Amino acid sequence: MTVNTQWELEGKTAIVTGASRGIGRAVALRLAREGAWVLLNCASNTAKAEEVLKEIEGMKAEGIAPASAGGAVRAFSVANEALVNDAVQSVLADQGKVDILVNNAGITRDNLMLRHSAEDWDTVLETNLKGTFLMTKAVTKAMMKARAGSIVNMSSVVAQMGNSGQGSYCASKAGIIGFSKSAARELGSRGVRVNVIAPGFIETDMTNQLPEDARKAMADNIALRRFGSVEDIAEATLWLASLRSAYVTGQVIGINGGLYM
Ligand code: NAP
Repeated sequence: MTVNTQWELEGKTAIVTGASRGIGRAVALRLAREGAWVLLNCASNTAKAEEVLKEIEGMKAEGIAPASAGGAVRAFSVANEALVNDAVQSVLADQGKVDILVNNAGITRDNLMLRHSAEDWDTVLETNLKGTFLMTKAVTKAMMKARAGSIVNMSSVVAQMGNSGQGSYCASKAGIIGFSKSAARELGSRGVRVNVIAPGFIETDMTNQLPEDARKAMADNIALRRFGSVEDIAEATLWLASLRSAYVTGQVIGINGGLYM
């Protein structure tokens, strides 16, 4: 198969949830740099998401990204089925298709199990796991009809290892792995691939909240002795989104610096 490696995603339509900050922002920029039109979703931080859109326009103006790159901002909770369906329908109406979905939106409500409230548990599971299901369900019909599509779901290394004080988060992220493998089996015969990225500790707002001594202790357990960058995750996402990974589905790709093997 010949793949144009200069602009790998020219003419492709992508949806990235949680694209206002951190990993989602880097993923959206990386996909756009290859020519994708990207729906930039966030929960409420539209000003930040608009900045990402401006960066995409800037890349186009500088010739770093092709003319097909672009996007739109849409704030909605991935846990709200009606809003999810509305957003996906509007992309289908405007762009005619969805080629790539990156389910990246995620939250934590960390607490030791005995102190963890049932409300916080539900909030984490609703956003991280149900949100991934709702978004995937919403794009599936169009992808199946097109007999093509790549869905990339953001899990975490702690889904594989467990982590004290992160029971709800780990459960949600492990659920994403089981859900993704099932979806990969359901959709594979229609040409739709579903894969998971399990990032290790990445430099973002989520990990910057940790105290410095905790960050140092965590880095000491990583074979490469450092946190990863959002670009490390964006590169892997691009690979899974593109046809370079055409024979890859149902896989969990660990991008963790050797924290977990
Ligand atoms: P982050 O900086 O905290 O950003 C979270 C993003 O998700 C924001 O864009 C936020 O929008 C959006 N969001 C939150 N709740 C939402 C909802 N209900 N509906 C739609 N969007 C919502 O997160 P991050 O560190 O980049 O992490 C991104 C993903 O990677 C998450 O799934 C996380 O679990 C996973 N991950 C991160 C790490 C890490 O070390 N950072 C490691 C492993 C896995 P607003 O800006 O509007 O709030």
